[in-house]
Amino acid sequence: MPELYVGGRWVAAEAGGRRAIRCPADGSLVAEVDEAGPADTAAAIAAAREAFDHGPWPGTSALERGALLHRVADLLSREKASIARAESLDTGKRLVESEYDLDDVIGVFHHYGNVAAEDAGRVVDTGRAEVVSRVVHEPLGVCALITPWNYPLLQTAWKVAPCLAAGNTFVLKPSELTPHSAIRLMHLLEEAGLPAGVANLVLGAGPQAGALLSEDPRVDLVSFTGGLGTGKRIMATAAATVKKVALELGGKNPNIVFADADRETALDFALTAVFLHSGQVCSAGARLVVEESIHDEFVDELVRRAGRIRIGGPFDDDAETGPLISAQHRDKVEAYVARGVAEGATLRCGGARPSGEKLVDGFYYAPTILDGVTSGMSVAQDESFGPVLTVETFTDEDDAVRIANDSIYGLAGAVWTQDAGRAQRVAGRLRMGTVWVNDYHPYVPQAEWGGYKQSGIGRELGAAGLDEYRETKHIWHNIKPEPQRWFDGRED
Ligand code: NAD
Repeated sequence: MPELYVGGRWVAAEAGGRRAIRCPADGSLVAEVDEAGPADTAAAIAAAREAFDHGPWPGTSALERGALLHRVADLLSREKASIARAESLDTGKRLVESEYDLDDVIGVFHHYGNVAAEDAGRVVDTGRAEVVSRVVHEPLGVCALITPWNYPLLQTAWKVAPCLAAGNTFVLKPSELTPHSAIRLMHLLEEAGLPAGVANLVLGAGPQAGALLSEDPRVDLVSFTGGLGTGKRIMATAAATVKKVALELGGKNPNIVFADADRETALDFALTAVFLHSGQVCSAGARLVVEESIHDEFVDELVRRAGRIRIGGPFDDDAETGPLISAQHRDKVEAYVARGVAEGATLRCGGARPSGEKLVDGFYYAPTILDGVTSGMSVAQDESFGPVLTVETFTDEDDAVRIANDSIYGLAGAVWTQDAGRAQRVAGRLRMGTVWVNDYHPYVPQAEWGGYKQSGIGRELGAAGLDEYRETKHIWHNIKPEPQRWFDGRED
């Protein structure tokens, strides 16, 4: 069966393009899939436009949409094991992590199943008896949803679920490296009873399969998660037709540890913050900002523990973290570390490909710590998106906040202290969309996720996540119209 999904039919790429998907853990062939070109994307946009302008979906009640999203969640639960496996083959991430991701995906569909039906708008008291004034939400139109490879189905769920909850139609373009969970989702949307043309899927590289999505005037919104450079290009292109744009971009997230922190917990979380999924997490705690007085013992212990992290493939039960997504991405991480060392950072551990027969064919990179980093160095400013921790030190609270905020990004950060007042003061001063206190990484679909500064535009999840996908209209209804006699018609 072909893999592009357009207007309710599974179709092959018009120009016959195919792409081999390889598992990053060992380079083995997972499958070949269709590779869309601009003509396929144009057909998908046309199908989504037709379904929005003339199909039944935008007119369904919020309750019906909510029910469909709950059905999708149930189908995902049924297929959880096999979709998690597919996700691990595409990404190389540990199976257990893909299973956690699937639980989150199911939670996101249930969440929007609930909120779809909750917020039906409001009646406004105008103080005038002859007027009924309502604020209502309406679907926005055709949405282009573009997602990255690190959490393929989860990032897709964060977009598809609110997009459908609001009554839109869409064209989804997942990363060309990780298409399989998106294909599986389309099958489940079909099975759940979504009308033809509401959901459309194009696969392939950004410039060929994706670029048209931000150019085409038939698209009303582009929601993109990915790198900063791509986000800027999409925003610039979308400006020509004044599309709504939602961007979830990168981060360079500080993990601030004060001397009074619970040392053992802070150490444990500092490792998870940066080395989970080999650092390929937008909110990774890739900058340790540690109080000078505990720097030496804290970092010595981190280095000791980082050196013991077990690396392996997705189905290696003993492995604690896996490969990078591609050879090209590993090259970038290697160049980043080399730059840091050239700028004067001290390589404390890692900085090389791990050895071992089982690892030679995969794109592995050892957990790496660069100490002695200062704000002016490129490694303190640029995202590596790999298993690399940079270490900066601070002297007091003001210094910690200054260092942490010294970034073009503002996605997330954490503060570790047992002083509750300080925790709240610092959290309040960090210019980031999410701040964890004495924790790292958790999120809930009920709370907004999004970036300050160049980490993004708009919000995903929470109540505001739904607002990205709908228009809001004020309807003023004069129920007792009478002449106003502002101009009385006299001739003198
Ligand atoms: P990327 O920008 O290279 O690609 C993301 C998606 O955009 C892919 O589907 C790609 O094919 C597509 N694309 C590329 N060029 C395009 C174009 N001109 N038009 C349309 N689509 C195009 O990013 P990536 O390498 O897949 O992902 C890593 C980046 O994503 C990191 O910078 C990371 O921080 C960021 N990210 C952010 C969040 C967040 O919530 N803020 C979450 C996950 C990943």
